[in-house]
Amino acid sequence: PALATVPVHAPGLDSGRLGLPPHVKLVLLGDSGVGKSCLALRFKHGCFDPGCRTTVGAAFTAATVTVPGSGATCKLEIWDTAGQERYMSLAPLYYRGAHAAAIVYDITERRTLAKAQYWLEELRRYAGHSMVLMLVGNKSDLVSQRQVGEEEGRQLADSIGALFVESSAASGSNVAEVFEGVAGRLAGGMPVSVN
Ligand code: GDP
Repeated sequence: PALATVPVHAPGLDSGRLGLPPHVKLVLLGDSGVGKSCLALRFKHGCFDPGCRTTVGAAFTAATVTVPGSGATCKLEIWDTAGQERYMSLAPLYYRGAHAAAIVYDITERRTLAKAQYWLEELRRYAGHSMVLMLVGNKSDLVSQRQVGEEEGRQLADSIGALFVESSAASGSNVAEVFEGVAGRLAGGMPVSVN
């Protein structure tokens, strides 16, 4: 039901034609400090610096994303945890109606990869419906501090049926791929069950 086509066509957007809802809700998950807010900011504003950071924990960002392979665009609502993940549980409202989730870890902190499984379980518990999953190994610019190999991340992603990418909000590497990858998978009609 989360992926049902909603027969509303937002002006200037092609989501209806692609079988996407007019607003795709993507929730960001992962431990505090892995770079969730920075990824959203980099994608939306193309910047990475303290001046670009919001003062109040931002609840969500809306961005237009190009769906790979189609040239079409759709509207993404990127939900950020606003720091609530520190309490190890997010409000059910956070997950409600989400079409996709990006579980982010920090390649320089092994424990954040181990916690990806925890966030997946949270998602299963509260979302309870199929959605597209993306596993993101962020901070790929910190080459000398790497604790988690790329192949390890990819294997975990494969085992949970998620897409995978290593990104850097700092350099901008593969940031668009996170958001476009989610939109592409949704448009391709291949939701991954998290049940
Ligand atoms: P969140 O708690 O997951 O939202 O993490 P933030 O977006 O607040 O980022 C936490 C810290 O990691 C900040 O000091 C960022 O500057 C830093 N950071 C985020 N992404 C990257 C990245 O790709 N590379 C590097 N080197 N630092 C990053």
